[in-house]
Amino acid sequence: MKKIPTKIYLEERELPKKWYNLRADMKSKPEPMLHPGTLNPCTLEDILPVFCTELAKQELNDTDRFVEIPEELRAMYSMFRPSPLIRAYGLEKALGTPAHIYYKFEGNNTSGSHKLNSAMAQAYYAKKEGLTSLTTETGAGQWGTALSMACAHCGIDLSVYMVKVSSEQKPYRKAVMETYGAKVIASPSNTTNTGRAILEGDPKTGGSLGCAISEAIEVAVTTENCRYVLGSVMNHVLLHQSVIGLEAQAAFEKIGVKPDIIVGCTGGGSNLGGLIAPFMGEKLRGKKDYRFVAVEPASCPSLTRGKYLYDFGDTACTTPLIRMYTLGSKFIPSANHAGGLRYHGMSPVISKLFHDGHIEAIAETQTDVFESAKLFAKAEGILPAPESSHAIKGAINEALKCKEKGEKKVILFGLSGTGYFDMQAYMAFNSGTLSDTIPTDAEIAKWIDTIPKIPQNA
Ligand SMILES: *Cc1c(COP(=O)(O)O)cnc(C)c1O
Repeated sequence: MKKIPTKIYLEERELPKKWYNLRADMKSKPEPMLHPGTLNPCTLEDILPVFCTELAKQELNDTDRFVEIPEELRAMYSMFRPSPLIRAYGLEKALGTPAHIYYKFEGNNTSGSHKLNSAMAQAYYAKKEGLTSLTTETGAGQWGTALSMACAHCGIDLSVYMVKVSSEQKPYRKAVMETYGAKVIASPSNTTNTGRAILEGDPKTGGSLGCAISEAIEVAVTTENCRYVLGSVMNHVLLHQSVIGLEAQAAFEKIGVKPDIIVGCTGGGSNLGGLIAPFMGEKLRGKKDYRFVAVEPASCPSLTRGKYLYDFGDTACTTPLIRMYTLGSKFIPSANHAGGLRYHGMSPVISKLFHDGHIEAIAETQTDVFESAKLFAKAEGILPAPESSHAIKGAINEALKCKEKGEKKVILFGLSGTGYFDMQAYMAFNSGTLSDTIPTDAEIAKWIDTIPKIPQNA
């Protein structure tokens, strides 16, 4: 038999022409977003003041199985796609496993992660609709970086509300965004009512993602021709990320291989949702069975220890209510958590699939995750993002199970990004100061108790 090459590339003309909308194949759909005032499902009119029109339509569309990727946007994708599917020969050897391991690498662009797939789409539609500026928030900085690249390319102004501690800890991220012309504002700031109120109460606060979201939304709704965009959790973001899974599927077809187990890391669920989409579609249509494994940090365990309830997307409780696995919007991860994936909630699509038993979920400690990152970096040559290293850890778990049982399973995992902007976390790991703080049941119960007490159906 011919040896499978280490890198399985698609040609540019094989870039997907359509995104795949997994919701169309879900018989039991994710619950609709609710208007926080009326508790009725959000209508298009409800969300148009905040979101771009086309993105708002995509958000509510759970019937069309495919959504066309506009030709101009495909040309933008071709700057950094198709991304390679890589056979992890080095990792297989290092583990001594009979399993065949593959990963889809999304870190080969300057922003360093899969987030550019949705950033390009969102900036494209905003320009097309005649908007002149966008606002967003960024925590660790990957989304802000990706969006600044996309906005620069499309010629749209961008304001990024960056959590103050992150903007101080990650000056290089800020520098990349500014190089692309984005305005980076440390949040809380004195540019919004929300920011000023928070600063008045606590002038020394380091900020939070929830606060940055509230500031970005406030600016978007009070500025003409401006909208707010976000990089994970939402249905339209998962739709854009389906290019990852579609390309992976096409690459596997080229070599005549089918994966058995698909593993991804989950923060808000967008890279996992994108990677698994077409495979999950096959499973839901009864064409082929796969196992899907979501890997989250033990310090922010929304799927494994959260509740499937309607909750707010931000700390200030300004977003629509979203039915999702959540730790409560007031959740704050421990200060020593360096591995990313710190959002309190989870994509409604991933939440529903998990709730219905189609996805398994595990939580891993960051010290174990960084051990896996180091092993992977040595065996495969790529320095992985701490977030992506959760998926590596999950894939290694499965590969070692195969070794124990002498099984030759095919494992696919998503390598969502590179770790070049996370050297602070690697330094902590290398110097042995990285530790794990896992929330107690009592702490989790306290956060869960902040979830709004609205009628919650089973
Ligand atoms: C943002 C990010 C994640 C987590 O977000 P998801 O929406 O869960 O994919 C994972 N990996 C990398 C590299 C990221 O930048």
